[in-house]
Amino acid sequence: MRSPIDDYLHQVLRDCRDDDAGDVMSGNRELERADPTSFGIALATVDGTVYTAGDADHEFSMQSIAKLPAYALALQDRGLDGVLDRVDTEPSGDAFNEISLEAETGRPRNALINAGAIAVHGMLDGDGATERVDRIVDLVSTLAGRKVSVDSEVHSAELASDDHNTALAYLLRSAGKLDYEPDEVVDGYAAQCAIKVSCRDLAVMGSVLANGGMSTTTDDERLLDGWITRHLLSVMATCGMYDGSGSWMARVGIPAKSGVSGAILGVLPGQVGVAVWSPRLDEQGNSVRGVAVFERLSRDMELHMMHVA
Ligand code: GLU
Repeated sequence: MRSPIDDYLHQVLRDCRDDDAGDVMSGNRELERADPTSFGIALATVDGTVYTAGDADHEFSMQSIAKLPAYALALQDRGLDGVLDRVDTEPSGDAFNEISLEAETGRPRNALINAGAIAVHGMLDGDGATERVDRIVDLVSTLAGRKVSVDSEVHSAELASDDHNTALAYLLRSAGKLDYEPDEVVDGYAAQCAIKVSCRDLAVMGSVLANGGMSTTTDDERLLDGWITRHLLSVMATCGMYDGSGSWMARVGIPAKSGVSGAILGVLPGQVGVAVWSPRLDEQGNSVRGVAVFERLSRDMELHMMHVA
């Protein structure tokens, strides 16, 4: 049965559908084939209810959003200090694939840009790239509440256009920030980007983060440590929207992470996970209609964290 919230999400979808600004991601043959008219929204509450509109069950690749589960595993494997030793938590203000390593320490600025995410992937426990990727796939499956997998076409397309990430990986190794062979790390990183999910999956995953790491679909089950959840949300709040992170926090006001397939995952702690997918991107690489939907939801539903009633 459709609830008033489902109706509201359908209305938001209709109101934002006409905005055809931006372009789908170029330079990756699979992402270039995305249907630019695709548009889905899902909202999952901490009490386990999911509301959807449009293409909410359509699958796309996670891209940069997969940086979150990989980061969670690195924190689990190495502890906070072990990870901080390799990757900082400062906003970079640079583009997602910027070659930005701190001059003094050689650390990437944060784990949500490519340099940091490649360093993070390169410190995961696991025997070989396949085992490390399987661990990320398993965590996404656990958080989303259903089995997900890597899209092999997207994975190969990533590898066919990965010179820049390969350069970053070699740079990281020269700075002593990589435990494995750079090519193997880039292969694993490309596979994590290619994990297929839907808006529903991302929203449920977001609801677990909103719930401090506790499952929102099964009783009393802890899926992520509380401190890891808090750390992820903090870095999402400051670094999750590429070089558009500052204006996002002012206008929308919730921790979020976007990916170049056109998805944005937003989390309001204690309340909801929200995911929007629409492949046309703005100059920062964020989904144009995704940003518009979040601005609208933030205003209408008073989701802004700094909002005082
Ligand atoms: N596969 C993309 C890359 O590494 C992901 C980037 C993103 O979504 O920010 O270049």
